[in-house]
Amino acid sequence: MNIAIVGAGWAGAAAASQLRAQHHVTVFEAARQLGGRARCVPHSVFGHPIDNGQHLMLGAYTQTLQLMRTLGLDTEQAFHRTELGIISADARYQLRAKALPAPFHMAAGLLMAKGYSWSDKYTLIQLQLALQRQHWQVPAQQTVLQLLQQHQQSHTLIEHFWQPLCLAAMNTPIDIACAQLFANVLRDSLGGSRADSQMLIPKQDLSTLWASHALKHCELLLGHRVQHITPDTTGVLIDGQHFDACIVAVASYDCARLLGHLVHSAAEQSWLQHIQAIRHRPIATLYWQPRSPWLEPEPLLMLHEQPHKQHYGQWLFNHHAIPNSFARNLISVVISNADDASLLGREALVQKTEEQLRTQTHSRSPLPAFEQHELIIEKRATFEATPSTFRPEENTFWPAIKLAGDWLLNPYPGVLEGAVRSGIKSAHAILQSQHT
Ligand SMILES: Cc1cc2nc3c(=O)[nH]c(=O)nc-3n(C[C@H](O)[C@H](O)[C@H](O)COP(=O)(O)OP(=O)(O)OC[C@H]3O[C@@H](n4cnc5c(N)ncnc54)[C@H](O)[C@@H]3O)c2cc1C
Repeated sequence: MNIAIVGAGWAGAAAASQLRAQHHVTVFEAARQLGGRARCVPHSVFGHPIDNGQHLMLGAYTQTLQLMRTLGLDTEQAFHRTELGIISADARYQLRAKALPAPFHMAAGLLMAKGYSWSDKYTLIQLQLALQRQHWQVPAQQTVLQLLQQHQQSHTLIEHFWQPLCLAAMNTPIDIACAQLFANVLRDSLGGSRADSQMLIPKQDLSTLWASHALKHCELLLGHRVQHITPDTTGVLIDGQHFDACIVAVASYDCARLLGHLVHSAAEQSWLQHIQAIRHRPIATLYWQPRSPWLEPEPLLMLHEQPHKQHYGQWLFNHHAIPNSFARNLISVVISNADDASLLGREALVQKTEEQLRTQTHSRSPLPAFEQHELIIEKRATFEATPSTFRPEENTFWPAIKLAGDWLLNPYPGVLEGAVRSGIKSAHAILQSQHT
């Protein structure tokens, strides 16, 4: 078959990797680089590439890691793998999984955690046990905050454990974030094996990490923004070129724009309206080049977000502590759900975040002076993952058109693993339709 894929993000690349051996695959990508929302920015102020946003993966991203291995990549070389750790920059809180088999890795980590009271530790374990007993199923419309309150999680636990974790995983505030999606992430990470719970920081830039390998042998049209997709009797026309089938692997708003003109029936209109209603939230990443490497050994520290002080940073990455990181000695700060932070203005945000860093890392190795910085705000970084967010299936009303992307129906919020799973599922839907 002659198959088109629109979008070379992680979903599109995953789809291509499944189809390219047996079919002729053409990939249209509007940007000049691969990777979509997880891509490399080749020209930074630092004179070397950086990513459009600091990304973190989990050992639980099984399909992504499996796909990389199938492509012949060494995932142990590609990532810096560390035990799950929630270590606050100000040294008040420390929880690190231990090098023991599951479930003792988390249990021992929790028992030895610093900063949380015995009652906090007890209620945290109780919540995990309750979720396990319920097979990680929670009421359909429950939010993360309601789940935490139902299980008597203290203010300290919510502020210094659950909230930063929820924002990192879902980019959605806890009072509206979907408890079921959060429970799925917990099931596969905290509730999984020791390896599943580990954190993986990419040591290579996100565009070269694997997408270029997945797209080998495909016809790749970079810088081509598709304008028209029209089904015909034998397949689909993409900007006038005929294909037997296509996968539209773009974000929800681009999908609505590309397929909106095909919608006629009431069912199609309702489908489109639901897609158009999907909201997105920004993520900001602030990179600094320190004058000399920061000698702090932890690669990842949790920051205390204090909006009343305009301190919005949540996580701090120290690339000097990551051997062979492509980002060299850079320090990066991640601000998820960055609406309020964005309103500050770029210069004020940089200045306030530096103030936050210097205040909160006071008890650690001295933070060197900073030279250059680069602030990247991705306005529509991920979809807002609430209990009522619409997540369609890969199949559409038009048999030759399938969808892929992190926002399609899958067990995860808007993350890389969800994008990869959806791409694989969509490719298999095309292969299946070939046999029916
Ligand atoms: C700053 C930031 C930080 C993040 N941090 C994490 C993290 O730590 N861990 C994690 O798991 N996830 C994280 N995510 C989420 C993750 O990046 C996304 O879930 C994932 O990249 C989505 O992939 P996708 O393929 O579904 O969509 P996209 O990456 O959006 O891919 C869609 C592609 O389609 C292209 N396109 C759109 N319209 C057209 C058209 N008309 N013609 C041709 N091409 C078109 C786009 O240019 C794009 O390349 C983060 C996202 C951001 C932005």
